[in-house]
Amino acid sequence: MELNNVKDVLVVGAGPAGLALACDLRRRGVEVLVAEKADALFPGSRGKGMQPRTLEVLDDLGVARDVLTHGGRIPVPMMWRDGERLGERPMFEPVEPTEAEPYNLAWAIPQWRTQEILHARLLRLGGSVAFGEELTGLTQDGTSVEAEFASGRRLSARYAVAADGGRSTVRRLLGVAMRGEDVAPTPMVVADVRIPGLDRDNWHTFAGEDGDGDGTFLALCPLPGTADFQLAAGLPPGSAPDLTPDGIRGLIAARTHLAASDVAEVAWSSDFRPRAALADRFRAGRVFLAGDAAHVHSPAGGQGLNTSVQDAYNLGWKLGQVLRAGAPDALLDTYEGERRPVAAQMLGLSTRIHRGQERRGEKTRQLGLTYRSGPLASGAAGALAAGDRAPDGPMPDGTTIFDALRGPHFTLLRMATDAPLPDGLPPAVRVREQPTAYAPYGKGLFLVRPDGYIGWAGEDAGGLRSWLESVGLA
Ligand SMILES: Cc1cc2nc3c(=O)[nH]c(=O)nc-3n(C[C@H](O)[C@H](O)[C@H](O)COP(=O)(O)OP(=O)(O)OC[C@H]3O[C@@H](n4cnc5c(N)ncnc54)[C@H](O)[C@@H]3O)c2cc1C
Repeated sequence: MELNNVKDVLVVGAGPAGLALACDLRRRGVEVLVAEKADALFPGSRGKGMQPRTLEVLDDLGVARDVLTHGGRIPVPMMWRDGERLGERPMFEPVEPTEAEPYNLAWAIPQWRTQEILHARLLRLGGSVAFGEELTGLTQDGTSVEAEFASGRRLSARYAVAADGGRSTVRRLLGVAMRGEDVAPTPMVVADVRIPGLDRDNWHTFAGEDGDGDGTFLALCPLPGTADFQLAAGLPPGSAPDLTPDGIRGLIAARTHLAASDVAEVAWSSDFRPRAALADRFRAGRVFLAGDAAHVHSPAGGQGLNTSVQDAYNLGWKLGQVLRAGAPDALLDTYEGERRPVAAQMLGLSTRIHRGQERRGEKTRQLGLTYRSGPLASGAAGALAAGDRAPDGPMPDGTTIFDALRGPHFTLLRMATDAPLPDGLPPAVRVREQPTAYAPYGKGLFLVRPDGYIGWAGEDAGGLRSWLESVGLA
């Protein structure tokens, strides 16, 4: 794919954040180009834990079925010492699906597969990625952004999104600072390895004394849908990782009962230092930071990829409303207002999990995230306040609330009330009624945003019209 001027949005980076954003923009009819410096999609399993809230997002983007088919349950950790199994140590309490939370299990799927699925979806939506295009320069004025690439090509767009990862070039070019701390002094190695003789029933952990944060910790997690395991290992502070296949084999042989020759293949390897850091701003003029470009974190608790995809999901509909529906530019400020506090919470959570100070559970599943105190929330009714996630549930015709929400539109849910609706609601707002009381909502009117959060709620329609105006639905 050649780089050409895009009328609307340039997305820099084809990681999970950039691909999810491009899918969301395409289905809103927004012209988008993804520029990726690598020649192909990222090949490693890195962010393999998909949280329930992200599965809901991917359901709306039309790829949840693929993710479920190619993934599997997160295996239960098996503790090993001196070649003996010490027993299983579940990471979290099992939870059953409910009507309100149909996807409530975290799911394991290698990051490369998630990216492949999102990329295929983007192509089906008519979008594309320009591979081998490294952004090296960026300037902006009041109406557009100009980007320059290592290839010498240049292009302009109305907005740009930095989805170019933790070492974001765009963030540096914008002069936006990233502040934070090392989560642990131990460097970590991560690799995809094939070990035919090791069973795939458990996440095998050959632990040091302090779990994930320990410099002698090593874990091998079977990756569903593949014959590989993801290796994650801590190294003693100050040591330099040997990322060659022989180095990875040697590490496994030194920390486990397995021999180096048991490792048939090392498909990918990398190292990193767990850090928790947050960008000072998520918006600089016409440029937005999303995903790891805006927040980096420990992999413990599996929050990074999930938070990155959800950044994209929050930004997508807002860009769509401004570009296609004439919403005020101020709507785009609410991206930082809503997502920066969420990222800050997530950083604290993954750091505490990394340090063994908190367990995985309700919070890591991300279903309870709320924008209640954010800049777009208005009103409350029944059991919910504006800003809360809209729960799923049954509808009278045998479909579900999620069926009604799926797609780029807004939905006005009239739950167990005959409160009158304003005349002349815009066509982008679909009205659905549930005459029977349903406890997760209670009684009231609930305007659900395209990203599945309640924007406005009330016992009657007072205030609804002005909320709609604020998002370009006059
Ligand atoms: C060991 C490990 C385990 C993890 N486990 C989990 C987990 O279980 N769950 C979870 O949620 N998260 C996990 N994460 C975190 C997750 O991998 C990241 O949060 C996620 O990849 C962020 O996605 P992104 O799209 O923001 O950035 P990235 O995936 O980093 O993608 C950025 C893209 O931008 C491209 N790029 C960079 N610079 C430029 C440029 N100048 N021009 C053009 N393109 C550019 C890069 O090549 C890359 O393709 C883990 C991370 C690690 C290291």
